[in-house]
Formats: sequence, C-alpha cells, structure tokens
Amino acid sequence: MVLLNLGLPHFDKGRLLLVTSWKMASRGVSSLIHDKAYVDGQWVSAISGKTFEVLNPSTGSVVGVVPDMNADDADVAVKKAYQAFQSWKETTAKERSDILRRFYDLSCQHKDELAKLITEENGKPLSAAKGEVAYGNGFIEWNAEEAKRVYGDIIPSSVSSNRILLLKQPVGVCGMITPWNFPHAMITRKACAALAAGCTVVLKPAEDTPLSALALCELAEKAGCPKGVINVVTSCRENAAQIGKVLCEHPLVKKISFTGSTYVGKILLQQSASTVKKVSLELGGNAPFIVFDSADVDAAVTGTMLCKFRCSGQTCVCANRIMVQEGVYDEYVKRLADRMKQELVVGDGFTDGINQGPLINERAVQKVERLVKDATSKGAQIVLGGKRHDKGGNFYESTLLKNISTEMTCTQEEIFGPVASVMKFKTEEEAIEIANATSVGLAAYFYSQDLTQVFRVMEKLEVGMCGVNEGILSTVQAPWGGVKESGMGREGSKYGIDDYTEIKYVCIGGLQ
Ligand code: NAP
Repeated sequence: MVLLNLGLPHFDKGRLLLVTSWKMASRGVSSLIHDKAYVDGQWVSAISGKTFEVLNPSTGSVVGVVPDMNADDADVAVKKAYQAFQSWKETTAKERSDILRRFYDLSCQHKDELAKLITEENGKPLSAAKGEVAYGNGFIEWNAEEAKRVYGDIIPSSVSSNRILLLKQPVGVCGMITPWNFPHAMITRKACAALAAGCTVVLKPAEDTPLSALALCELAEKAGCPKGVINVVTSCRENAAQIGKVLCEHPLVKKISFTGSTYVGKILLQQSASTVKKVSLELGGNAPFIVFDSADVDAAVTGTMLCKFRCSGQTCVCANRIMVQEGVYDEYVKRLADRMKQELVVGDGFTDGINQGPLINERAVQKVERLVKDATSKGAQIVLGGKRHDKGGNFYESTLLKNISTEMTCTQEEIFGPVASVMKFKTEEEAIEIANATSVGLAAYFYSQDLTQVFRVMEKLEVGMCGVNEGILSTVQAPWGGVKESGMGREGSKYGIDDYTEIKYVCIGGLQ
C-alpha cells in the first residue's frame, strides 16, 4: 500500500509513524498495538522479514507496521495449530469455558482501547467502534457459555442388545479469513465458537485491519489460551491468495470459515474441495429494503437511517435496494432527505458528533463513484450528495438517489458506501419478484402494518435473515447467515458452534 495512491501529499513515513504512535499513545491504545504476528504463542516476524503498513483511512497516516507473511508462514502456523489441537481437544468444556470467560472479562476491561484501535484502522466513528466491541465481546461471552452445552445424544435402537450413542467432537484445525468492516466482531463471532468446541485456529485478518486481530491475541493469551490454540498470520493484499490456498488445501486443516465477498468465497470453496473440508461462508448480500403503502413511514425512515448508514454503508446487510411503494414514495424520499440532512455528519472517527466516517480505502471510493455515475447516466436523480466529500481522501458525501431502476448496477452489486438508492414499485408481487431477482440472499427488510402482508412477504423472501419493521438484525442470540450465494453455515446463536463439531455415531452391541 502506498500513501501516494491515496492522493495524499507526500509524507515522511518514518516521521509520520512516530507522530501517529505518539497520538495513539495519547489516545490510550498503544498497549494493545503489536508489530508482530502471533503464532504458537510467540510474537513473530514474517519468515521473509517483510512488513507492510496499516493506514488510518481518515488521515492516511501510518497506524502500525506488521509482518507481511506468505504461504511459508501459514504452513508453520497450521502445523503449530495442529500440535496444539492434540491437547486442546482433551481439555474439558469447563476449562475452555473458563478461559473464554476470562478472555471476555479482559476484552470488556479493554473495551475503550479496542474501540479506539478499530477507529484508527477502520475509520468508523468511535461510538460505532464501541458498539462493535460490545457486539464482538458478546460472542466471546456467548461461546464461553455454549462451550458447556455441546451435548451428544442417545438414540433408541431397534436392536434390543444395541445402544446408539452420538458424540460431538471438535473438527480440528480451522483456517479463518476475515474482512475489515468489523475487525473485532467478525473474528470473535467465528473464532470463539471454534475455541469453545475444542478446535484450534489459524486466522488471516484483512490487510486494512490486522491490529484488532493481534490485540485479541494478546488478550486471549492473558486469559490463559495455550500456545498454538489461536494463531494470527498477517499479510498484505498481494499475499492473501497464497495464504488462503494453504489454509484451504492443507491436509492438517479440517475446516475453513470465511467472511468476505462472494467472489473470494467461491475461490475458497473450490480450493477446499481438494481435501473435502467442511466450509462455512458468510458472504456478500444485496439487501432489499421494502416500504409498503401500509407502512409507518416514519418508522421506515428511521430503519433506513440505521440500516443504510451504519459503518458509512459498509456492511453486508446494509439496505442496498430501497424499494418504496408508489403511494408513499414521495413522502418517504422527502422525509429521508430531511433526516439525512439533519442527522448525518461526516468526519474523522475521533471527532465528537460525527457519525459517518471515511470509506476504507481509495478503491472503495472509486467503486461508489462508479455506481453513482452509472445510475445517473441511466436516469437516477441525485437528491443529496453524489460526489467525493470536500474533506478529500476517502470521504464520500452521504448520498440519496431516486428514480432507481433494476438496470442500474447499484441494484446488482453491493454499493458498500453511504448511498441510499430508492426505486418505486406498484404491487406486492412486483416487490417480491424484484427482491428475489438476485443470486445472493443474506438479509432483507420490509415495513408493513398489515399482518397478513407481513406473513406473506416474510415467507416469500429468499434470504437467511429478515427484518420486519426493524432495520438492525445483529445480535449474538440469533443465527447469522445467508442463502443462495450469500453463503453456508450460521454464526452465533445456539447453532453457531455446530459448524465446529463433527457427529460421531457409536453403536455398542452385545449388551444382553
Ligand atoms: P474480500 O475482498 O472477499 O476480503 C475478505 C478477506 O479475504 C480479507 O481478509 C482478504 O484479504 C481476503 N482475501 C481476498 N482475496 C483472497 C483470496 N484470493 N484468497 C484468500 N483470501 C482472500 O471482501 P472485502 O471487500 O474485504 O469485504 C467486504 C465483503 O465481505 C462484502 O461482500 C460483504 O458483504 C462481505 N461481508 C459479509 C459478512 C457476512 O456476515 N455475510 C460480514 C462482513 C462482510 P485482504 O484484505 O488482504 O485483501
């Protein structure tokens, strides 16, 4: 990654790092910042000795420098995780639960530093980062509890001298790859379920946000997590594919869990076929957000504000295709524009009162620019925003587009930015048809006060998660995941840990 690519003035990187480190120390996060990866309980450099810089997406300043690892480092980490698995799988559920509970307590004690670290490397507003830490820590706590509830089964046999037992056993070493948009929660949501079940983990975080992953390793170690049980291999974007390949094809890895784009998920699924691994995929979405004539329009606008603009529109479940029935279309657009003008404040994540941070990098800004240009060239009307923000860098204006149609690319791809794009529809059937006319199916939302309509629509939408008169779905108690090309498996809830266990059927005979 090169600073000049961000269109920023030329910086003396050494000086910038010193200044940034000093600033971060004054913000109280430096104790959790690491410049080494974490393998087998050791803080290690890349075998190649290479490093890469982690940039603050708001200022372009260097937040940290971490090892730029490759396939060789991943291979070492897998072997260490395999060694650690031999003893970790023998621990009792109570022992694992106790370690995860201490991990949770430590993560709560350090919640402010963890949140500041997220704002530094991801750019999201500090209040949102605090929300992410609370959400992410919830998965540590939840899995500390679930560890003790992995029950087997006894099944009545049709042969009187036989007994049928089902044992649930840990899958083994799990390879994990996570994205940058929730640098803390996307790790705890999967890794803690794996640890609770008795699996060990080799995790590659996103290039943009490796520091949160390393901070979690420090806290896990302090909580008593034995060496090799959790390993984090950091790399820049160029090496991601080779590390992913090692994780997917290594015979010692028994499971892959990935959160990220559908495009990369498909590559990993193909690679995992070579060793018939279990695979969990949390992939991209294209969420419809439907407002029916029967809706409480104010509630729908409030839901849109939460659902669309969380993380500046950079979540997999953000409203991507806002569809409003013709009877309330004009009213909805007007009220949404008013609320956006009144409430959305763009700026650096550490500035009081802001709620819209920068996009993650220049590539993300270019994608949003491309989608807005495509939409306007095909007849979309800009109500608000529609261009890069005056603040420069990775900032983009909070944008409202109307007159959207299904030919526009913004209805076919994830926008992943602060652009609310609104289309008009006539009938319920038409809305459902448009909503389902996509290869992915992660989340959908709709607003209706008509009970029969609520049941009709929720049953017909082809998604894994559905918000009815509700714009926020994330919670540890509910199963998270999609259908169609949005992935397979579920995270969180009582179902999440199942992805990390194998069922062994035992038949005991001769019991007369
Ligand atoms: P991405 O490009 O798929 O990257 C995700 C992770 O995969 C990063 O760690 C990335 O490393 C790594 N990666 C990239 N190419 C790889 C390859 N060929 N082999 C192995 N690993 C590879 O996704 P993103 O753009 O960062 O994240 C946004 C996407 O994630 C969106 O589609 C969003 O919907 C999805 N998402 C889904 C969920 C969910 O719960 N379903 C949650 C959050 C995000 P580098 O960073 O080094 O490139």
